[in-house]
Amino acid sequence: DGFPRTVPQAGALESLLADLGKRIEHVGNIQVEQDELIARLTGRWICKDCGTAYHTVFNPPATAGVCDKDGGELYQREDDKPETVTKRLEVNMQQTQPLLYFYEDKNVLTNIDGQQDIDKVFADI
Ligand SMILES: [Zn+2]
Repeated sequence: DGFPRTVPQAGALESLLADLGKRIEHVGNIQVEQDELIARLTGRWICKDCGTAYHTVFNPPATAGVCDKDGGELYQREDDKPETVTKRLEVNMQQTQPLLYFYEDKNVLTNIDGQQDIDKVFADI
C-alpha cells in the first residue's frame, strides 16, 4: 500500500527484485474519479477516547459526532479534511501519473474500475 509511489522508487524496487531473480508481472491500477475519492476520503471521523474510526457514508455512528462504543467525541484528522485531501490528491497524481506510464511501457499495467461494487472490483483484481 503506497509503494512504489514514484518512478525512482519503482526503479529501486525493480533492481531489488532483479537481484532476487524476480520481476513485476502485473500492476493493477484501481481508478476512481476525483469527486468520488474526495467523498470517500473526507468522510472519516475518529473517536477521541478509543480511536474507533467511522465514515459518514460507509460506517456512520448511531448519533452524528458521537462514538457508539463509549460516547466519546468524534474528530476529523487534519489529513482527512477536504482542503488537505484535495492537496494530497494533486500531489499524488503528479507523482503517480509518470509511474503509470512507467508500467504501461513495460506492458504490465491493467486498469480496474474502482467505482463498481466492491465484489466486482475484487473479481476484476
Ligand atoms: Zn470511542
